Amino acid sequence: MKDKETPLMRQYREMKAKNPDAVMLFRMGDFFETFENDAVIASSVCGITLTKRNNGDAGEVPLAGFPHHQLDTYLPKLVRAGYRVAVCEQVEDPKQAKGIVKRDIVEVVTPGIGLYDRLLDAKRNTYVAAISVQFHKSGFMVYGVSCADISTGEFFTCEIAKKDIFHILELCLPAEIIISKSLYRELQDDISDLPFNPSITKLEDWIFEYQFAYDVLVKHFNTKNVKGFGIQDMHAGIIAAGAVLQYIQDTQKSVALQISKISVFNPSEFMTLDYATRRNLEILSSMNDQAKDGSLLAILDHTKTPMGSRLFKMWVGRPLRSLQSIEDRLSAVKSFVNSGNILQECEYILKQIGDLERLIAKVCAGRCNPRDIYALKKSLDIIPLLKELFGKIQLSPFLKSLVDQLIPLDQLTKLIEKALQEEAPAVIGNGNVFNPGYSAILDEYVEAMYSGKNWIQEYMQRERDLTGISSLKISSNGVFGYYIEISNTHKSKVPEHRYERRQTLANAERYITEELKNIEEKIVNASDKISELEQNLFLELRLQVIEFTEQIQALASVISKIDCLYSFASVSKQYKYSEPILNENNDLHIVGGRHPVVERMLHPGNSFVSNSTVFDAQQRIHIITGPNMAGKSCYLRQVGLIVLMAQIGCYVPAESAIIGIVDRIFTRVGAQDNISAGESTFLVEMQEAANILNNATEKSLLLLDEVGRGTATFDGISIAWAIAEYVHDILNSRVLFATHYHELTSLTEHLSRAVNYKVEVKEVLQSLLFTHKVIPGTSDHSFGIHVAHMAGLPPSVISRANSILSTLENSSPVYINTNAIEYDKKIQDVHLRESETQFSMFEIRDDAIRRALQDIDINSLSPLQAFEALIQLKKKL
Ligand code: ADP
Repeated sequence: MKDKETPLMRQYREMKAKNPDAVMLFRMGDFFETFENDAVIASSVCGITLTKRNNGDAGEVPLAGFPHHQLDTYLPKLVRAGYRVAVCEQVEDPKQAKGIVKRDIVEVVTPGIGLYDRLLDAKRNTYVAAISVQFHKSGFMVYGVSCADISTGEFFTCEIAKKDIFHILELCLPAEIIISKSLYRELQDDISDLPFNPSITKLEDWIFEYQFAYDVLVKHFNTKNVKGFGIQDMHAGIIAAGAVLQYIQDTQKSVALQISKISVFNPSEFMTLDYATRRNLEILSSMNDQAKDGSLLAILDHTKTPMGSRLFKMWVGRPLRSLQSIEDRLSAVKSFVNSGNILQECEYILKQIGDLERLIAKVCAGRCNPRDIYALKKSLDIIPLLKELFGKIQLSPFLKSLVDQLIPLDQLTKLIEKALQEEAPAVIGNGNVFNPGYSAILDEYVEAMYSGKNWIQEYMQRERDLTGISSLKISSNGVFGYYIEISNTHKSKVPEHRYERRQTLANAERYITEELKNIEEKIVNASDKISELEQNLFLELRLQVIEFTEQIQALASVISKIDCLYSFASVSKQYKYSEPILNENNDLHIVGGRHPVVERMLHPGNSFVSNSTVFDAQQRIHIITGPNMAGKSCYLRQVGLIVLMAQIGCYVPAESAIIGIVDRIFTRVGAQDNISAGESTFLVEMQEAANILNNATEKSLLLLDEVGRGTATFDGISIAWAIAEYVHDILNSRVLFATHYHELTSLTEHLSRAVNYKVEVKEVLQSLLFTHKVIPGTSDHSFGIHVAHMAGLPPSVISRANSILSTLENSSPVYINTNAIEYDKKIQDVHLRESETQFSMFEIRDDAIRRALQDIDINSLSPLQAFEALIQLKKKL
């Protein structure tokens, strides 16, 4: 079959065999074509027509294609749809080719690796991550995670325990994860549980061998060893990093020059936030639609540069644990806040700085045009202004150290300014890219071309005079070059001895002359030369710019930090946040705290009710009761978010806050939020609770909302009770425990450091007023029935509910002894109460006679009706 195919299809198959799992875009002249199954995919994903192509004696093959200049449109569509895409280009000039044009794969674009603008989001990194494992001399398995973003040049690695792999991945949200086939078998379940759906690429095990990875790194960075990066002892980290770099080189088919260094990511520097907590606190995206709107990030992000906004996302998702680092940021924010109009001026300046990281990455990857390089210059031109601005204010030591690193790259900006025209076109080769004076040879050809064109104008005038045909004109096209065109009305005046006919149109004739041909040759020659020279000069300029990669990246890094600090200061001033005080103890004092997102989302006219929170040696667990909608969850989240904001170095929505640094925030929210997860809801809830109890420390903050709600009441109460005891006695963490199990309020009688709070609700004119004030005490639990009444349930149902409630209240309270030895008895007691209650419920339900009696109005009954009622009661009995 293969022998019968056309040579082109045979070449296609050779290329396809190199990347069988990628959709291949096969360049043919001015088109990119896809064949066979790839054509079916491309046609459905890109909406292009599926046709057929002749394949010699082998029949026909399905085909779908698009013009080559639409690569930027269609390729990202395929990648976003989850496909890998191999681009196969013609690698020789078809005019020079003997036989079939040589072709080769020039890049493979994957979800994690691609420099197409339409694949990249300016506000987030596109990481490719690798996971590795290595046996450590300590006797344990150590795991490595490394991430790189080729669009910015970021590259880091770390070594961690297995359970932390997924924290890191959830933080970076890589678009693609590469992993060895054997490690994939081990981690398969965890990977498929990842909540953000990365593309998974399984590679051969040998790519994840230490020596191979080490050599890849050393060769790429052109260093003797990896000591300079501080990763020499991180074997698993080296393996992951080497695998990432090798994968980038294999897909990009070039050295990624923008990756100029590798850094170490140390997870212990940051507060641990698991996925559940990120989600519950709606840190980076809101819970409803996973969109940024309604999240903490959306409220706080006032950054003005693309690289600033990417870093900001990292900062918000990765609160700090070191007091010094937090104070560095806070004091920098203070410098801004206390300096008059500096924020407006800073905003104005930052807005003018483009995406330095992505611009230099494009330059390094050879994907830039003259406009990109000019944009780089324009952004670099702003740096002296930024520096000058900070000269005007009192700087904190940390901010000063950043400002000191703002070193203008005069040499580079001058070079670009001299070279490129400000309005340079995006396409190189058609002239107008370089400034006059930049290259003497280029100037000569430009001059030749212009004088040639002038000569043509003069020649046209001369011929008009000579022939007396005033409508004679000279034009050019790609087929005939320059020609003289004379309309048929003047045909008789044509000097046939000098003019040579080239083309006959319906109402005109086209001619050429010897002189015209000569000058045309000069013009064409000059324009070819200009094109060639421009290409070469641009390449030279690009290489010169590449020399500055590290400096530009360093500047981008400093500017993004300044941008983040600016953003903190801007929100802090605008939303009246105050500077928190942090310390190393385990207390917490928030006065007048607010929820940063809810306070911004309230309808006009409503104001947010602030609440204070205290944790100290006497108060470690707050049991918070209150009816639905009172504001319990909001209060819990508010405390978590205030702590988080303080630890990212931002001011906080409170009158004042003194915060003992938190190592982890744990959250467990009500089961109702997980109902869509189905029957295993309670199991998930308990897994989350287990995670909290196994990992929380006395430095942790626990936000527990409706724990135990996913199961039967008495199970739920028992579990919640036992958890509260454990947290109180063993962990001593700071805990906010919201519940509407009233029984839990009696915990305070047994646990010395537990306190009851309630969210205040007042009854005003027969309706409930939610004041949202958190005050000491326990809430009245007949509010549910009150709400039912407000909602319009029939009066008989409401009165029945009230009578059941009072019966329940009169039954013996839950007795739970805190003495562990008596735990069995405790359980028995609870069971006993459960059965007692069920029994009494049964009794009440059977007591229909009593209800019927209650419903009888004796005064309105005639003797006969009274007798009839008695008969009915007898029947009921
Ligand atoms: P619960 O958890 O007690 O059922 P929520 O915390 O969900 O109640 O709060 C219910 C609604 O009340 C929220 O959507 C919010 O709009 C409003 N709310 C909560 N706390 C406050 C507050 N402190 N100030 C103003 N409105 C609040």
